[in-house]
Amino acid sequence: MGELYADVIVDISQEKLDKPFQYRVPENLRGELETGMCVHIPFGNGNRLLKGYVVDLGSVCKFDPGRTKEIRGIVKNSADIEGRMIALAGWLRKNYGSTMIQALKTVLPARQRVKKLEHRTVRRLLGREETLSLLGECRRRKQTAKERLLQELLTQEEIPYGWVTGKLGVSAQTVRSLETAGAVRVESRESLRNPVKVAGGEELRPRLSQAQENIVRKVLEDYDAGRPGTCLLHGITGSGKTEVYLKIVEEMRARGRQAVVLIPEIALTYQTLLRFYHRFGDRVSVLNSTLSAGEKYDQCQRAKNGEIDVIIGPRSALFTPFPHIGVIIMDEEHEGSYKSESSPKYHARETALEVARIHGASVILGSATPSLEAYYRAQRGQYRLFTLGERLTGGQLPVVHTVDLRRELREGNRSIFSRKLQALLEDRIRKGEQSILFLNRRGYAGFVSCRACGQVMKCPHCDVSLAEHTNGLLVCHYCGYSQPRPGGCPACGSKYIGGFKAGTQQIEEKLKEMFPGVRTLRMDADTTRRKDSYAQILSAFAGGEADVLVGTQMIVKGHDFPRVTLVGVLAADLSLGAGDYRAGERTFQLLTQAVGRAGRGELPGEAVIQTYQPDHYAVARAAAQDYEGFYREEILYRDLMGYPPVSHMMAVQIFSREEQGGRRLAESLAEAAKGAFGGREAPGAGSAQALSLGEADTSSSGPAMQLMGPAPASIGRINDIFRFVFYVKCPEYGKLIRIKDFLEGQAEANQSSDETVQFDFDPMNTL
Ligand code: ADP
Ligand code: ZN
Ligand code: ZN
Repeated sequence: MGELYADVIVDISQEKLDKPFQYRVPENLRGELETGMCVHIPFGNGNRLLKGYVVDLGSVCKFDPGRTKEIRGIVKNSADIEGRMIALAGWLRKNYGSTMIQALKTVLPARQRVKKLEHRTVRRLLGREETLSLLGECRRRKQTAKERLLQELLTQEEIPYGWVTGKLGVSAQTVRSLETAGAVRVESRESLRNPVKVAGGEELRPRLSQAQENIVRKVLEDYDAGRPGTCLLHGITGSGKTEVYLKIVEEMRARGRQAVVLIPEIALTYQTLLRFYHRFGDRVSVLNSTLSAGEKYDQCQRAKNGEIDVIIGPRSALFTPFPHIGVIIMDEEHEGSYKSESSPKYHARETALEVARIHGASVILGSATPSLEAYYRAQRGQYRLFTLGERLTGGQLPVVHTVDLRRELREGNRSIFSRKLQALLEDRIRKGEQSILFLNRRGYAGFVSCRACGQVMKCPHCDVSLAEHTNGLLVCHYCGYSQPRPGGCPACGSKYIGGFKAGTQQIEEKLKEMFPGVRTLRMDADTTRRKDSYAQILSAFAGGEADVLVGTQMIVKGHDFPRVTLVGVLAADLSLGAGDYRAGERTFQLLTQAVGRAGRGELPGEAVIQTYQPDHYAVARAAAQDYEGFYREEILYRDLMGYPPVSHMMAVQIFSREEQGGRRLAESLAEAAKGAFGGREAPGAGSAQALSLGEADTSSSGPAMQLMGPAPASIGRINDIFRFVFYVKCPEYGKLIRIKDFLEGQAEANQSSDETVQFDFDPMNTL
């Protein structure tokens, strides 16, 4: 038997990851030692015994074998924070596919010095009279710098430190001497740590309703009984979910536990933040993308040291090194941003369950439109389902009109605004009420449909929309099937067949033509390129600076506009035509959210959904605000086609500098997977293989897997990197992991240095 070597890191920090030390694994530890384990190692010249963590195992000695030291032993029961983070990284690597280093970098914060300068302030401690007398003294002693600072502090009690040392030209030493004298204090007013100085006194704390009380009680009962579980909280915006979260977090704190609250950044409003600050003061901390690496590191240190016990943030907040998490809350659980786009491509929901398992924590998922994954599991009893009914803040659900655009066309209206929408817009503009026009372009992949009958060109094998390519071919982004663009509609023969071209800018122009003098604001990727422009547009609209806000999906999240009484969805079909299996789900969510934007205030609201497919269940059920009905139809489709959550799906993505090489690698990997695991091929037009759906999977144990592709990715080349992809479907996740492991080995043996292979489990988007 050959030697076994282990890469060990002595110090847990991102910077040390790339410099692991190699040790020989002694005979007696082989078979027992795994990556992630904590071991005793002799270190340095004196061979001091230190603890280290195994990040990789292999048979190649990278140094002089004669001088490589041996691991002394495995540290038993090392359930410290570091050990748990490493174990979590190992779990990410196994379940999502990545290197151990990538996985570790995901869970460990980069160690950086915190640059506090921007956030420091100088605060006056003395009263006005005392300050004036000190000022006089400084004047007599010709201490001009002190004089300048005190003068300034008379008008303003607190001044940013950078301004004091910069604009006022006061040295740090001078500030320090005033501080020693007790006149001022330098405060690390990390606006991050305490974004608001919360004034004392009683805050408003509503009495929980029976339904809310019930949820809190059940979650805590289970937790206290030592069987923490996962529950799904299904309730529309305003139904009281956040109040439930606050109460449970409070109870966990009383038990000496910490809480992780995940909220997608785009949905995290200032009001929500304030509610957490009011309740938990400086025991709560927020992670967001505006923090520097140093500040993020600082938050982690504070969590480790027990200075905070609640963290709010996007998916990475899951990796906060708390000693003992009691609850993980995941609001807007259905949001796509919970899935990481870089390796390891983990989903925060599944990862939250793993973190909860490690800590023995409860998990609460909340959403108005739960993901199919969460609802499916709730239906099967894996999650406990709670439903919160009506809005607590008043405001009725809007009246929804579904407009059939095919009929508009038949009756001679070729405008992008239906007659109903035109009439309602005119009414609102006249009354001085606000409207939102929403173009759900998200995931729009250039599908082709018939304007006369609504027929969408779909892949015969995958039942997803085909995307039109510049060469005129319609292509399936799952299996690579392609066909020429038909001259007329295959269903009704109409020649009104084509793609959707309208963009937000065009809609804004048309609106101005139709209603001269109308004041509009536009929000899309173009107008929000600058960091603060998103907030600026929202506040301008909230402040009544426009009659109509035109925008993409970014306008339907979070923010409340009490004066909006009309929402128009210009073409519900846009997101329905995204060439992936989640198109229906995404459409239902977007439409439900969009409709919910109307009538949040005193005035009742109306919504208009324009569509070529009024009978499509995602459109019809959203119009009826009927989640259950939508779920029942959508899950049938997923089941029938073998898509998640009923089955599982793994995308194998091949990136290559060289087109032929990339294609060859993709093909050889797909072939190898079929050979080893008995894939049944879903045929594509480009493939010469015969349809073999009837064949049994005999060559490998477990349920059958099915392979689609390979095909060029939807964007076949980015920055001169060619991209290929194939998909493997299988009802058993574990088998997909085995296939991934197998393919990793194959890729290592076959790929050139110009090529990389990545994996994406239950992908949210097509590559
Ligand atoms: P969600 O998180 O589902 O959007 P919230 O918890 O934010 O709902 O509640 C919506 C509004 O109703 C908030 O202003 C909240 O303060 C208020 N609210 C929540 N629960 C109650 C209650 N039991 N009694 C009175 N008001 C409540
Ligand atoms: Zn047609
Ligand atoms: Zn297909």
